[in-house]
Amino acid sequence: MNIERKFFGTNGIRGIPGKDLTLEFIVEMSQSIGTYFGQGQILIGYDGRFSSPLISKAVSAGIMASGLDVMDAKLTPTPGLQYSVKKLGYRGGVMITASHNPPQYNGIKVVGMDGVEISREDEVEIERIYFEKAYRKADWKEIGICGKEDSVIRTYINGVLSQVDNDIIKKKALKVVLDPGNGAAAIAAPYALSSLGCKVLTINGHVDGDFPGRGPEPTPTTLSGLSNAVKFYNADVGIAYDGDGDRAVFCDEKGVIHWGDRTGALLVDYLLVKNPGALVVTTVSTSQIVDFVAERNRSKVLRTRVGSVDVSRAMIDHSALLGLEENGGFFYTTHMPTRDGLMTSALLLEALSYANKPLSELLEALPKYHQRKAKFECPNEIKKKVMEEIEKKSAGRVERIDGVKIWADENTWILLRPSGTEPLIRVFGESKHAEKLDELIERYSSITKESIEKIKRAG
Ligand code: MG
Repeated sequence: MNIERKFFGTNGIRGIPGKDLTLEFIVEMSQSIGTYFGQGQILIGYDGRFSSPLISKAVSAGIMASGLDVMDAKLTPTPGLQYSVKKLGYRGGVMITASHNPPQYNGIKVVGMDGVEISREDEVEIERIYFEKAYRKADWKEIGICGKEDSVIRTYINGVLSQVDNDIIKKKALKVVLDPGNGAAAIAAPYALSSLGCKVLTINGHVDGDFPGRGPEPTPTTLSGLSNAVKFYNADVGIAYDGDGDRAVFCDEKGVIHWGDRTGALLVDYLLVKNPGALVVTTVSTSQIVDFVAERNRSKVLRTRVGSVDVSRAMIDHSALLGLEENGGFFYTTHMPTRDGLMTSALLLEALSYANKPLSELLEALPKYHQRKAKFECPNEIKKKVMEEIEKKSAGRVERIDGVKIWADENTWILLRPSGTEPLIRVFGESKHAEKLDELIERYSSITKESIEKIKRAG
């Protein structure tokens, strides 16, 4: 479902403080968030960006002005805030973060009492309150107060550790290189993995709002430092997090960085053996390797639009156990149905400990697919017409969950999708046969370029 919202995007409200996110806007929007929650205490946390403490104070002011009390968790990874809202019994939470966006950005993410991001319908409701200026302005006697919540990191680490077999991991005493990328994961992950008996070495391990190490986005191209450190120290595994610690990307003992759908499929396989038949949720853009591992464990895969909130909400609606994204997002409902980089790490360490084999060998055993990506600039206002034009020229079985996904044969597909955040059409394909995939990418790249030109000329 694609519900029109003005401020809430794929993952909360994002923008540049002082420009898009002015203090006036933040306070009024937070009054609207407070009014939406109606009552109870709200937990507020933030990532390591320079603007985060300021925005957190403005959000607190807005919520207090609407008559609700807030508790300040201060610096925390996003999943730490989410888990603590649920575990400590808060009415809701607000996380100040722009995840993997460049340092000048920041954002506001709203979570419900279950710790999960609120639904798209609830985002529409908050925007309605904001636009109609229907937010509550508390009387002087009813203005909320602000207190401190000091137990968030402890609560979070204990929650993650309670989900895995500590003894078997401790026995292996794995050597792990962590790369939090100067993000908020640095204040939880090294301590959690140390208490699992791992020998932890950290790079880019101090929190810095400028993300000077390798930037806040972990991808195979930004993680050469991690790869080198894993090889240099003869580590068993390397783990990188995004800026707010909800995604984890892994590096095997040979220094090879893997995309999240491959390591995610490994985890799905491991967890489905223990829970055969459990439902798996993933997005349209994730590799069919997920279908392969699900099938061999007699499980089904449900596909959603691209976006972690879409995955979380589908998991709740369909009582799914597992969820994953190719960017390193992994969701484990027994803990909470939202992505969590530290939980993902602990599960992978458990899987490695049980298997008693190196990570590269476990990944090698999964089937191989070729993948290609491309992107084309396309003004936002013509995206819809361009997509219609592309669809007219498509041949094969078509799926329309998000953009257009065309199946050329049983295991060859191409996905053409307008970006939710940038003026781009993204093209993504996968196949068992490299040549077939190249040919398909080439054909649809020309169709996309021609369609953009045609609509531009017509407009
Ligand atoms: Mg993130």
